Amino acid sequence: MNNEFKQYQDLERVLVTREEIAAKVKELGRRINADYQGKSPVVVCILKGAVIFFADLLRELDLPLDIDFMAISSYGSSTKSTGVVKLVKDLDRDVNGRDVLVVEDIVDSGMTLSYIKSELLHRGASSVRIATLLDKPARRRVNLEVEYSCFNIPDAFVVGYGLDYDEKYRNLPDVGILHPRIYTK
Ligand code: 5GP
Repeated sequence: MNNEFKQYQDLERVLVTREEIAAKVKELGRRINADYQGKSPVVVCILKGAVIFFADLLRELDLPLDIDFMAISSYGSSTKSTGVVKLVKDLDRDVNGRDVLVVEDIVDSGMTLSYIKSELLHRGASSVRIATLLDKPARRRVNLEVEYSCFNIPDAFVVGYGLDYDEKYRNLPDVGILHPRIYTK
């Protein structure tokens, strides 16, 4: 595979390149800037998978925003969702009366974001919108509105650009399909 990192050998193939991501993040930034004109949203990063997308997206946002972080437990080291959602790290600040933009790496069943959205609305957020890098619409198990999505992808387990398998591969600059030999031992 034509890439400089040795970890690319564990990929079946690259699915979304760094260039495609950079172009989409810019485009998404422009949409969000237009939609949030005159507002000062709290932009929430869902740890850890969204960190790289979050850092890149933030630098496209020309808005007087705050940032905050939330961590939710999901897969552990497996590649299949357990459907069990647990809050591991909460926000530092109150979102009562605020417009919240939740930034996530990938929407799969939709359970995680549906939990986060209802929790934030319950806390009195004026609005809650979702921005995701990747979406697997074929896997949705709950009805969830995703306002900003960069790429729809097929039902495959992907890593890179923040997404991990057993905490590895987050540092890969592109998104790729992990070779099944890595997790079917
Ligand atoms: P959901 O609650 O929508 O089923 O799952 C969302 C979470 O599952 C994501 O934040 C991510 O942590 C994890 N996830 C879902 N699909 C993938 C995938 O293809 N690769 C990786 N690395 N994580 C995934």
